[in-house]
Amino acid sequence: MDYFPVFVKLQEAPCLVVGGGEVALRKVRLLLEAGARLTVVAPQLVPELASLAAQGQLAYHAGVFEPQHTVGMRLVVAATNRRDINRQVSEAAQQRGILVNVVDDPELSTYITPAIIDRSPLVIAVSTGGGVPVLARLIRARLESLIPAGFGQLARFAARFRERVKQRFDNVEARRAFWESVLEGPVAEAVMHGNEAMADSEMEKRLAEASSKPLGAVYLVGAGPGNPDLLTFRALRLMQQADVVLYDNLVASELLDLVRRDAERIYVGKARANHTLPQEDINLLMVRLAREGRRVLRLKGGDPFTFGRGGEEIQTLAEHDIPFEVVPGITSASGAASYAGIPLTHRDYAQSVTFVTGHKKDGTIQLDWPALTRPDQTVVVYMGLTMAADLCQAFIAHGKAPDTPAAVVEWATTQRQRTVIGTLESLPQVISRYEVRSPALIIVGEVVNLADKLSWYRRVENRAATMQVPEGQEHD
Ligand code: SAH
Repeated sequence: MDYFPVFVKLQEAPCLVVGGGEVALRKVRLLLEAGARLTVVAPQLVPELASLAAQGQLAYHAGVFEPQHTVGMRLVVAATNRRDINRQVSEAAQQRGILVNVVDDPELSTYITPAIIDRSPLVIAVSTGGGVPVLARLIRARLESLIPAGFGQLARFAARFRERVKQRFDNVEARRAFWESVLEGPVAEAVMHGNEAMADSEMEKRLAEASSKPLGAVYLVGAGPGNPDLLTFRALRLMQQADVVLYDNLVASELLDLVRRDAERIYVGKARANHTLPQEDINLLMVRLAREGRRVLRLKGGDPFTFGRGGEEIQTLAEHDIPFEVVPGITSASGAASYAGIPLTHRDYAQSVTFVTGHKKDGTIQLDWPALTRPDQTVVVYMGLTMAADLCQAFIAHGKAPDTPAAVVEWATTQRQRTVIGTLESLPQVISRYEVRSPALIIVGEVVNLADKLSWYRRVENRAATMQVPEGQEHD
C-alpha cells in the first residue's frame, strides 16, 4: 500500500491554501465543507474566493507565500501554477511535520486527496495512488450510481441506535444479524424514504422483542420494456438484494441475470390463455413468502401500474399488512415511442396520447370509440396484437380515415425490436406478412409518419430490420 487511508477531523483546524485561482477554489470549498479554519495566501483571488473572504468564511493574506505562513497549520495545500512556489510550500510544511498536498504533483505531496462520494456521515474515498486520477473519478461515478442518496440518512439513523443495540445484544454475532436485518430490509427503506417515524417505531418493536429475524416485504418493481439499460437505479438495487423473485413472460432474460445470484426465482408466467399461476395464487404466494421474512421482488415488465395488475397485487398485500413498495418502470409505450422514433405527442400532429388495452378480462374489446377517433391524438394499444384486425376495423367504423398511419412495434427497446408501419386499413395484413409476435404495441396517429425521419435505434447497422415499410403501402 503506497498511501495509508485516513479520515482527518478538520473542524476548527487551521489549514492553509496557497493560491487564488480556480484550483485553489475547489480545494477551499472542500475544506470549508469539512469545517476547517482556512487561511488563503495569494497575490490575488478569483471572484468566488474574494467573496468567501469578504463573507468572513476564510482569512485572506494578499501577497506571496512565506514559509512562516505554515506555522501551526494541520494541513497545507499548494494550488498555484508555479512549481517553484509549490515546492517552497511543500518544503516549508515538511520541515514542520505538517501534511502537505501539492495539487496534481504527488512527488511534492505527503498526502493526496481521493475522489469522494459524499453521503455524510457516510463518505467513500477512492484513490489510485495519485497515478490515474481520471480512473478514480470514473470509479467514483460508478459508485455514485450504486449508492443511494439516502445512505447518509441511514448512517445517521443507525448511529442513533448504536448504543442501545449494543446493550440489547451482548454477543457480536447476534448484533451483526440484527443490524443486517435492519440495514437490508424495510426499516432501512423507510429511513431512506424519509419516514423516520415508522422506522423508529419498528426499531423499538424489534429491540423490545430482541428480534433479528428478518422482516419480510414485497417490492413491486417495474423492469421497463426489456432493455436492461432502461432499469431505474432503484429497480437494480432491489434486484440485487432480493431473496426471491417472482417473474413472468414479460421480463427479458437479460434482466433476470441482474437479479442477485443466489435469489430463488419463481416463474409465475402469464402468457395469454396459458396462466401458469392464477392471479389470486400469485398474490397469496407473495403474502406467504413475505411472512417467512423474505424480501420478495415482484418483477413486472414496463411499469407495474400501467396494465400491469400492480394495483390488484398490492391490494392483497395491504389487506394482509405486508410492507410493500412500488417502483415505477418505463412503460413499453414510452420505450417503443423513443426507440422507434415515434413521438407520442407533437405540436403539429398530436396534442394528447391515450393508452388503451386491446384485451379485456372477458375477452371482448369495449373502448370509448368516439373519444379514440377524435383528431390530433395518438392512441397506443397494449395487448392488441391478436385483436388487431378488429381494432383497426373499429377505428375506421367510428370515423377514422382508413389511411391513418399505424405502426406495430415488436420487442421494443430490445435487440429484437422491429417496427412495421402501415395504415389502419393495411395494418392487419402487414402484421401477418411480417409475422409480428407478442410483445408488441400498436400506435395509431399522424405521429407514426415521423418514424421515417426520427428512427435511430440500430438504424446504422440494419435499417431494414428495424424499419420496414411494405411495398405499395405508402402511408404519407
Ligand atoms: N406493464 C406493462 C404492460 C403489460 S401488458 C408496461 O407498462 O409496459 C403487456 C403488453 O405490453 C404486451 O401485450 C405489449 O402490448 C406491451 N409490451 C410490453 N413490453 C413490450 C415491448 N418490449 N415491446 C412492445 N410491447 C410491449
